[in-house]
Amino acid sequence: MDFGKMKIPFRLYLRRIIALTLILGATVLLWSSLSLAKTATGEVSKVAPGAAGSPYPNMPPIAAIGERVDKYLDVPESAKGPPLDPVKGYRLQELGKDLYMVTDNGYQSMFLIYEQGVVVVDAPPSYAAKLRKAIAEVTDKPITHLIYSHAHADHIGGASELGYVPVIIAHDETKRLLARAKDPHRPLPTLTFSDRYSLKVGSQVLELSYHGPAHEPGNIFIYAPAQKTLMVVDVVIPGWMPWRRLSLAQDIPGYVAQIEEIRRMPFETFVGGHVARSGTHADVELQSEFIHDLRSAAMDALNATKAREGMDPRDKDNLWAVFDDYLDRTSARCVGTLTPKWSTKLAGFDVNVWDQCYAMEESLRID
Ligand SMILES: [Zn+2]
Repeated sequence: MDFGKMKIPFRLYLRRIIALTLILGATVLLWSSLSLAKTATGEVSKVAPGAAGSPYPNMPPIAAIGERVDKYLDVPESAKGPPLDPVKGYRLQELGKDLYMVTDNGYQSMFLIYEQGVVVVDAPPSYAAKLRKAIAEVTDKPITHLIYSHAHADHIGGASELGYVPVIIAHDETKRLLARAKDPHRPLPTLTFSDRYSLKVGSQVLELSYHGPAHEPGNIFIYAPAQKTLMVVDVVIPGWMPWRRLSLAQDIPGYVAQIEEIRRMPFETFVGGHVARSGTHADVELQSEFIHDLRSAAMDALNATKAREGMDPRDKDNLWAVFDDYLDRTSARCVGTLTPKWSTKLAGFDVNVWDQCYAMEESLRID
């Protein structure tokens, strides 16, 4: 092949590429100058419509949702629990009179030993495969009952790992949700109730009760009177902020009311379904105080913030944009109010506080 003949066409080709690049560059410049927008304060915005602009005035120091955080707030000592044996991958904690908590320091479940067998409460998939081994550390009796705290897969999705269990107890709503889910890892309950159910096995008792929708319809209270232990999953997380959007509460007024109901219960040990340690009455008091402060901060922010203030005039008839801007500014105010008191009191404050403010504000507006 004669490569000499290739030289001229290649140069022409190169010139065409340069010319095309110049034309393209000019088009981009023109497009960007067309998209320059004047904000209400008269400043010229250099960003494309829909992209992030300059921050709102008085933004709190806690990073907003979607912003990258280089270093999160330290977890307070009060939120930490006993260490986990990495070889075993779970930890057993005796709660009194043959009642145990099992945890992988992320999830929590319980089991209760009676004369003829064992009652298991929840089977988180993160360690359900080791649950039989954990039980075998303290008894060789068979699992006769399984109780579902609620239908969510992250707490009971390991149920199939236990093999056949003769009796599975849950609330009616949990059965309905599981029938819909058709998940082979979460077998349907064999015994359901609507209001209260007292499980008496040998000399042991578990009082199950339903307090209406909050986190998820069908989520129940499980109380062991002899051990003064109450298990309610995904409502109060000892030492920590609730998970985002108030632990994904499907009914926020119901969720707030349930924390108060938990407060009035006569337990000494609380099992919340998550994190490394069990809780106490003081943990529930603290969570209740936080929710109370969140509610007032969100209410004050909604009342003190004016809609459309500082918006680009061209967006003022864009209803969704008006609410987005309003709720952003009310949430910024709410986060700012809560930060001085709460950022060092509950672990994960920075992770979830914006979500809590958004969730509470929406609930206050429409519930
Ligand atoms: Zn849940």
